[in-house]
Amino acid sequence: MNLANLADSIDSLLPQTQCTRCGYAACRPYAQAIAHDEAAINRCPPGGREVIAALAALLGRIELPLDPGCGTEQPPTVAFIDSGACIGCARCLPACPVDAILGAKHFLHTVLARECNGCELCVAACPVDCIAMQPRPPGQSAPEAPANRARYEQHRARDARAARERERLLSERKRAAQLLPQQ
Ligand code: SF4
Ligand code: SF4
Ligand code: SF4
Repeated sequence: MNLANLADSIDSLLPQTQCTRCGYAACRPYAQAIAHDEAAINRCPPGGREVIAALAALLGRIELPLDPGCGTEQPPTVAFIDSGACIGCARCLPACPVDAILGAKHFLHTVLARECNGCELCVAACPVDCIAMQPRPPGQSAPEAPANRARYEQHRARDARAARERERLLSERKRAAQLLPQQ
């Protein structure tokens, strides 16, 4: 198996929360680092023992305990926004890798519990600390890896479109400025 295919196989075993707790920017870069033998297989707290065992079986490596420097294995959580404290700054929106937060600037924001994968990335983004992680209610399961991956890819595609549009507007403004008569 070549390295790209190996990274695909590794990535397919990861939970796709994109939480960065492994020390990489997302699940895919961690998968690539493992494929290149640059990272241990025990750095994914959301995947926990199950993912470590699957990676060990795929790669023929020894099962290691979860690296405590990356975090601990916990029951699934969901983000909750305190509606009385939210100031509508919208900083949590770009932080969410799966677009599970609804809101617009100056309006109250809310979390779509069924889409939230518990990555916690919105918590640090909030300037007034009004986002808390809570245990998922009994019987309510967290989104599965394929859904997380699909939503993350949509999120990245939208970010890329927005970056292209900003670039286009900037170029137009520069061209317009060059056409203005010199004073
Ligand atoms: S889910 Fe696991 S592999 Fe993906 S970013 Fe989080 S810690 Fe890394
Ligand atoms: S709402 Fe917060 S915890 Fe939930 S997926 Fe989005 S960033 Fe992660
Ligand atoms: S970052 Fe916090 S205060 Fe700002 S919109 Fe999100 S939840 Fe509300």
